[in-house]
Amino acid sequence: MRAEIIAVGTELLLGQIVNTNAQYLAKGCADLGINVYFQTVVGDNLQRIKQAFDIARGRADVILCTGGLGPTQDDLTKDALAVYLGRSLYIHQPSMDKIEHVFASRGMEMVASNARQANLLEGSEPLTNDTGLAVGAAITQDGTHYLLLPGPPKEMKPMFDRYVRPWLQVRLTGVLPLHSKMLKFSGIGESSLEHKLIDLIDGQQDPSLAPYAKEGECTIRLTTRAATPEEGMAKLAAVEAVIRERVGEYLFAEEDISLEQQLVRQMTERGLTLSAAESCTGGLLAELLTAVPGSSAMFRGGVVCYSNALKHALLGVPLELLEGPGAPGAVSAETAARLAEGARERADADFALAITGVAGPSESEGKPVGLVFLGVAERGRPAATHRLQLSGGREIIRLRAAKAALYQLWQRLKG
Ligand code: ATP
Repeated sequence: MRAEIIAVGTELLLGQIVNTNAQYLAKGCADLGINVYFQTVVGDNLQRIKQAFDIARGRADVILCTGGLGPTQDDLTKDALAVYLGRSLYIHQPSMDKIEHVFASRGMEMVASNARQANLLEGSEPLTNDTGLAVGAAITQDGTHYLLLPGPPKEMKPMFDRYVRPWLQVRLTGVLPLHSKMLKFSGIGESSLEHKLIDLIDGQQDPSLAPYAKEGECTIRLTTRAATPEEGMAKLAAVEAVIRERVGEYLFAEEDISLEQQLVRQMTERGLTLSAAESCTGGLLAELLTAVPGSSAMFRGGVVCYSNALKHALLGVPLELLEGPGAPGAVSAETAARLAEGARERADADFALAITGVAGPSESEGKPVGLVFLGVAERGRPAATHRLQLSGGREIIRLRAAKAALYQLWQRLKG
């Protein structure tokens, strides 16, 4: 496949601006394995733009053109190609709606010439302009592909990367590009998740579903092939809706981020703060949170209170809860609640998480390895507790306990 790049603009011919678009498109073509044999620069003149298309058609299969899609009378690229290909122009209504909406939202009156930016050639495909108003166009006639992109680089580059690149890829290989979406879950094990979605996983063809698991988190990657990201996402949305219906309560993100990243983001956005009291996890919860850049905005800090003496001295857990005949002990719902409340009050945070449990390898207080109590304290509400019986070795239990605490906080924030 041979390509030619045409840059339209008298400013380019006068040397007032540098033709960086041609450089970007040339590199993009090289990445795709398309040979660029010629680059042309032409001024804002209808006859000469037509002439440039005519010359390019004789020596290229793909003509990538930038510039001249704007609202003014010297923006002539679509007019020139329409005349050259013997096609009419019409207003592409979704683009027109967008232009009107942008003007209305800025409280500005729309000058009639702005409608030119919504023009499309009869029979062409629109190329979405995510960062501007002028819609691009793709059209194939007599075996030649014509692609019209805007001049401003901040509009041209995203249009090329998001829409033109996949458009060309399809024509190059006949194979549609892949589009994927990640769904992230917590609070549900990989096998339970698979069990609930087994018919989708077994019967999958397009989109495909790939489950992955990491400690405390599960990921499902949905993948499909489609000509454009919009078509791809539309195909994925149907399967996603079924997944959400079945296991939506465990879904914490629609992108490849961890639970702690999501919590840091959500709490920061909402201006909420968190503190922690950790016994068996020894600071692991704090480590997970503080590994996320920006966590200082929401994480006040934590106390590693391994001994009963520190649980009492630093967080005010009554000694009679911790020790003595008939006391619930350090690994108990009562202690988890008091730890969470103590950590929240002392840090003056909106929320606090507490973790106390038996990480193993041997039992403690006559309680089995893997028994963990979580406390979730919230300003103005009594602390809630959760009992877990986790499996695995010491390190796995500690990590699962920390992730489970984050999951409980996530549930609380959702609620
Ligand atoms: P607009 O809606 O801004 O009129 P347009 O698609 O009509 O967009 P032009 O009017 O040709 O594009 O160019 C607008 C601006 O985009 C130019 O002033 C210049 O800053 C930039 N630009 C245009 N062509 C190029 C190019 N080939 N390389 C780098 N920048 C360019």
